Amino acid sequence: MKKIVVLGAGYAGLKTVVALQKKVRGQAQITLVDQNDYHYEATDLHEVASGNLPASKITYPIQDVLNSETTTFIQDRVVKVDPATKTVKLTHHDDLTYDYCVMALGFVSENFGIKGATENSLPMASVEEAKAIHEHLVNKMKDYQRTQDKNDLKIIICGAGFTGIELAGALADAKRRLAKIAGVDPSQISITLVDAASRLLPMFDDKLANYGVNLLKKLDIKIVSEALISEIQPGLVLYKKKGEDDDAQLHDVAANTIIWTTGVSGSPVVSDSDLPARRGRVMDTDHLTAPDDDDLYMVGDVAAVMPPDGKRPYPTTAQIALSMANYAAKDIAARVKGGQRPGKYTYKSLGTVASVGNTRAFGVAMGGHYRGYPASFIKKMIMNKSLFETGGVKELMAKGRFDLYH
Ligand code: NAD
Repeated sequence: MKKIVVLGAGYAGLKTVVALQKKVRGQAQITLVDQNDYHYEATDLHEVASGNLPASKITYPIQDVLNSETTTFIQDRVVKVDPATKTVKLTHHDDLTYDYCVMALGFVSENFGIKGATENSLPMASVEEAKAIHEHLVNKMKDYQRTQDKNDLKIIICGAGFTGIELAGALADAKRRLAKIAGVDPSQISITLVDAASRLLPMFDDKLANYGVNLLKKLDIKIVSEALISEIQPGLVLYKKKGEDDDAQLHDVAANTIIWTTGVSGSPVVSDSDLPARRGRVMDTDHLTAPDDDDLYMVGDVAAVMPPDGKRPYPTTAQIALSMANYAAKDIAARVKGGQRPGKYTYKSLGTVASVGNTRAFGVAMGGHYRGYPASFIKKMIMNKSLFETGGVKELMAKGRFDLYH
């Protein structure tokens, strides 16, 4: 019986297991490892950070979708993979050996070595981190009652990529609730996005990008652009404006909540395993395996896949993670059964939609541009689709977004 080890129960890992279980029953034994006993919908972390949703609404038990005859679950942290001996080292359990390994350990917040970023800002790359942001915000609002320090009411988000923008929108929705805790009018709570780019939302054309930026402004979200952050001090973001000399005096903006969303990199286990990677992402082969190792699949945020134009890898999204998982399951099942392997992996994006709060969004989907409420509807449908793909009807009914009519 072949041994398949899947590392990580995020979108990519859990979907690989769910798809494989059906294909290799009785012919392979699957072992799934994750540090948590729950799966979480990473695209919804901003809802937990803002307090708009409890963590229980974006998580479900991993065991819910496992078939105990085919799959064993181990809750533990992966230390490293040794491709030479086909072994996985875990923190608290014995080493695992495999015929095929699927590494799907997801992402961590990337701070690019910027001074003080780790110590003085809050990342949002896991449920625990999202909960910590919400707890911090509530504490600052409570503090304000005592301190009357305006900085307790100020929130800065470093990095205005999709993560930063979606978080800003969710926080705008949360203002009323937060203001009540502080005992102030919601207009006194300020949200500021700071980003190095001159033009936000580079993946969209001018019209759609302007729409997105105006949406943020309408919600009273301030945007400081062309601001390259170079240091974070307690309660202070220091940045250099585009075009200024290196020795020019830094600008600063103050807030007692500073959140770090300047991008992500693949799990550190990738470099700890000595795999060739850039920002924790390994350039995959046509079969989604690591270069020179056809038995080690790299899927989701630890992988980079080049589109046919070969310019830059596809951005990491839940959608591509699920698509890679489906392919990896098909490829491994074919090999377990001694059948013909599928042709090389290809990806067709269904679109990209960013939400700005609960009822507004914008993006490109199914070849069209969408704005406002219709885009928000599509966004929730996309999220429900990914939830259903792995969690099935049970998780969709329990955790799906059906607040479609406002
Ligand atoms: P990102 O890399 O897309 O954006 C990071 C932003 O931070 C950029 O705008 C960059 O200019 C800015 N930045 C980086 N360093 C900086 C510095 N020192 N000073 C100032 N600004 C700085 O990262 P992300 O938003 O975390 O997204 C990660 C991936 O996840 C992306 O591929 C994104 O498309 C995807 N994502 C998709 C969705 C969605 O589909 N709705 C939602 C969230 C994330």
